[in-house]
Amino acid sequence: MASFLSCLHRHPELGGHLSLDVLFLLFRLLQCLKQRLSWLCPPSHTTPPSSLPKDVKHFLHRWLCQYLDPSEDFLDKFWVAYRDSVWMSTDILDIESLRSAEVLNIFQTYAVPEGIGFHDLYPPFRTCLDAECAKADSTGVSAAHTLTRLTPTKCVLFTREFGPVPVVSYSAQCRSCYTRYYPTYYIHEHRGMRTHYAGIPTTIHVNQHSYVETALAEQFTASMSVIASEIRARREDLAIDPIAIHRILRLARACTGREPLQPARTGFYPIAIVM
Ligand SMILES: [Zn+2]
Repeated sequence: MASFLSCLHRHPELGGHLSLDVLFLLFRLLQCLKQRLSWLCPPSHTTPPSSLPKDVKHFLHRWLCQYLDPSEDFLDKFWVAYRDSVWMSTDILDIESLRSAEVLNIFQTYAVPEGIGFHDLYPPFRTCLDAECAKADSTGVSAAHTLTRLTPTKCVLFTREFGPVPVVSYSAQCRSCYTRYYPTYYIHEHRGMRTHYAGIPTTIHVNQHSYVETALAEQFTASMSVIASEIRARREDLAIDPIAIHRILRLARACTGREPLQPARTGFYPIAIVM
């Protein structure tokens, strides 16, 4: 907030007829888009792109139109004035803290039609991880190849806080060894083997179009015995897909290192997360 107010103080002309709340929300939306915007820059860049891409401008313009009729160059000027503050005040690893029900509603109404999801998922790396693939420059120093050819896939991410939200999952490829990197793993074209990144991911890839937040999967695991007991006690005959349940449990176990409890004979809530 301090960095936003500092910018506003330096550029009062950009306030126009917009209220402080709307201006701050615009700033917040741009913060939420930082990861998307960072892929427009070379991996080594730590500065924001010089301009906003067309889809982002279209999204923000349509949203702003409910408050005023923004001039053609309003967003360009706003970005130039605020981009450094947006960049410096946003930690991509902590971007979830910026999201809210209000932001979700704006994304669903104005961003999703532009192909921009509420919580888009990208590979965690911008360069190829394969040391043998690295190229040597004229001085003999080797450098990893930059990932390119971003490919979007529309998905649903099941979150603990907001329920299912529309997202776009991106994969990118190394043009040297053709390894394709996804948000939670990579696949070498020739070896055809899926390798998950080290560490505990924030999301779990359930199937082609579905992700689950790890925190939500852990919550399911912890709640399972209680839910199973309740279902048995009520003797409800709910429709389930046991294969899907075991798949989620297997993924949760792989990611958390914890042994999940066994599911009940019949229905279980997580079936809803398998699309
Ligand atoms: Zn490579």
